Amino acid sequence: MTFITQSGAPAGPVGQGTWYLGENPSTFADERNALRTGIEAGMTLIDTAEMYGEGAAEELVGSAIQGLARETLYLVSKVYPHNAGRAHIFTCCENSLRRMRTDYLDLYLLHWRGSIPFAETVECMEELKAKGRIRAWGVSNLDTRDMKELMALPNGDGCATDQVLYHLGSRGIEYDLLPFLRERQVPVMAYCPLAQAGRLRRGLLANPSVQKIAFAHDASPAQVLLAFLLAQPGVVPIPRTGRAVHTLENAAAAELKLTSKEFAALDKAFPAPTRKVPLDIQ
Ligand code: NAP
Repeated sequence: MTFITQSGAPAGPVGQGTWYLGENPSTFADERNALRTGIEAGMTLIDTAEMYGEGAAEELVGSAIQGLARETLYLVSKVYPHNAGRAHIFTCCENSLRRMRTDYLDLYLLHWRGSIPFAETVECMEELKAKGRIRAWGVSNLDTRDMKELMALPNGDGCATDQVLYHLGSRGIEYDLLPFLRERQVPVMAYCPLAQAGRLRRGLLANPSVQKIAFAHDASPAQVLLAFLLAQPGVVPIPRTGRAVHTLENAAAAELKLTSKEFAALDKAFPAPTRKVPLDIQ
């Protein structure tokens, strides 16, 4: 249950995010290098969106993948909810493809639920698939009730992912969304896997349990956060960094295997929910 490139290889297990990247000319080269380093380290899944820097992140991706075999990459972009209908989605998809300098997306996501009916978005996504402009489609920021509604529609079961906020300090999806998606063999893309370097959950990286585990493995707290997610079946984290040194660290997190005692310590410090909590959104 993961994302497969056109060449047939699994993308990941760790992907790369791009929010806030590509916006500043003075850091563009470093960010391009960070993405490229990640691809070379096996992080072939790259997540972006038309929203990020109003196309600037997609252009960075387009620059970073120059000269690489397209079929070995897994490129994901997202359409704004207000563009996710017949009137705009086809043009928006073409614009994303042009900025990313590619002729197809591996996955195209509805960024969050807006006012355009799901049925119309699904129809358009299926048309984009039939035209070969996307290989698959999915959604983002949908909680269980919305997912049930979506997947009950004609072709709704074609949804290939729900990209949602998920990190050690925000485990709400473990209560019902994650089990629901697993049952349907739909992998989850975990966004903000590092809680935006701890900004979304103060004290996360400095937590004594996280620090102790990191120390025991000669790893970083960020790697512990990623290892926690990588141990959850059907979950692909997409950390973002503009620094190649962090990219390599994030890629290496796939090698970090925590013990059951360590998982128990993390559970104690950041318990899984025991009741339904609203989907965390960034
Ligand atoms: P994130 O990946 O949780 O955190 C990014 C922050 O972590 C950056 O400040 C980065 O700084 C730092 N960082 C990265 N690797 C690190 C490491 N090894 N050690 C220490 N710090 C590290 O946050 P995010 O960018 O918000 O989320 C990830 C991706 O998910 C986004 O880029 C985007 O593609 C996607 N996303 C999707 C949605 C949605 O609505 N679908 C919403 C939010 C995000 P440096 O650059 O200094 O490394």
